[in-house]
Amino acid sequence: MTDRGFAVPRICPSCDGVASVAITSGGRDRHGHLRTITVDCKDCHGVGALFDRPPTFATAGR
Ligand SMILES: [Zn+2]
Repeated sequence: MTDRGFAVPRICPSCDGVASVAITSGGRDRHGHLRTITVDCKDCHGVGALFDRPPTFATAGR
């Protein structure tokens, strides 16, 4: 039986795991490209998950 090295993160309830989105400002540049800005979720800071505690990683050989 294997053992998990870290806790499984919980999906952020504010963004449902979609932590970063691109929002258009409505304008296009002279090449016709849509101008967008990237915004991260304020609760999970762009991670998409909330950790009950910081993830810990197993260290081999110590
Ligand atoms: Zn979030």
